[in-house]
Amino acid sequence: MPRTWSYPGPVKAVALVGGVGGARFLLGLRAALGVPADPADDPGQQVTALVNVGDDIWLHGLRVCPDLDTCMYTLGGGIDRDRGWGRADESWTIKQELAAYGAEPSWFGLGDRDIATHLVRTRMLRAGYPLSAVTDALCARWKPGVRLLPVSDDRVETHVIVDEPAADQPGGQRALHFQEWWVRHQGRLPARRFASLGAEQATPAPGVLAAIAEADVVLLAPSNPVVSVGAILSVPGVRDALRAGPAPVVGLSPIVGGRPLRGMADTCLDAIGVATTAEAVGRHYGARSGDGLLDGWLVHETDRAAVPGVTVRSVPLLMTDPEATAKMVRHAFEVAGV
Ligand code: GDP
Ligand code: CA
Repeated sequence: MPRTWSYPGPVKAVALVGGVGGARFLLGLRAALGVPADPADDPGQQVTALVNVGDDIWLHGLRVCPDLDTCMYTLGGGIDRDRGWGRADESWTIKQELAAYGAEPSWFGLGDRDIATHLVRTRMLRAGYPLSAVTDALCARWKPGVRLLPVSDDRVETHVIVDEPAADQPGGQRALHFQEWWVRHQGRLPARRFASLGAEQATPAPGVLAAIAEADVVLLAPSNPVVSVGAILSVPGVRDALRAGPAPVVGLSPIVGGRPLRGMADTCLDAIGVATTAEAVGRHYGARSGDGLLDGWLVHETDRAAVPGVTVRSVPLLMTDPEATAKMVRHAFEVAGV
């Protein structure tokens, strides 16, 4: 619907994001929109990030939400920049003490500072607050300048189906939590399939559908198309809302020159039968004019892609710093016509 009849106001953007790639993208989106450094000055809530919860996991009795925390720490200035996840100036005393007890799982590193976040979250969840409210409460400290919204308050966890042949069951398979596959096995067990456990009964968190309906533009961050963006889209209602919404949808490719820039998106794409190219991922998302999602698709300047029904642009897509990322966002806005 044309908005010429009223004062347009600030651009309202919705972004679908995972962890490290998503968080870096949000830094650029925030910069492109000029959200003030102290977001307390920005009552407009211009950016809503719909954050993947498929990686969330219970560890040592604590609820850990890796992608939400990566976004929150990155935007709030508390991230360990070298690792890209977890807290800066972290110490590992609790991890060492747990190891001394032989307490499993030992493959997931929880730092001391980080554990404080999980303690507050778990206590609030146990008191009955939904994850979206808990995230708001945590963000009151970090002031990310972006509304971080878990895509669902329900438990929707990505599991990976791998082969586990046994003498009596030569074709045997087993499902393990995504984190166990990714962190413990470093994605080396060939994934046959991904399953979004709980997705069928899940509903979008309060505010998710309204944010999509009120957005001027929707961006698919260059996050993992399977276990980040794909997991977000597995929550019933989200995909339909994006397809039916008034806002153009523009995606940015996480695949550059036939490879993911970091992480193991290629392994994940293999498992769903999608080639690791910017074109194949664009076609996997598909055109909104068909039965897909996209109006626009940005690929890296050295890549070319043809996605039927979708405006494709080749532009620099390396998120080297927030200003470079802001330029990517401006290209996406141009394609979207905002
Ligand atoms: P995770 O949840 O921490 O795995 O992070 P995301 O799913 O949000 O992002 C991971 C994806 O980000 C990977 O598939 C990378 O290829 C992609 N990525 C990381 N850095 C860049 C970058 O500078 N440019 C682009 N285009 N993609 C990137
Ligand atoms: Ca993740």
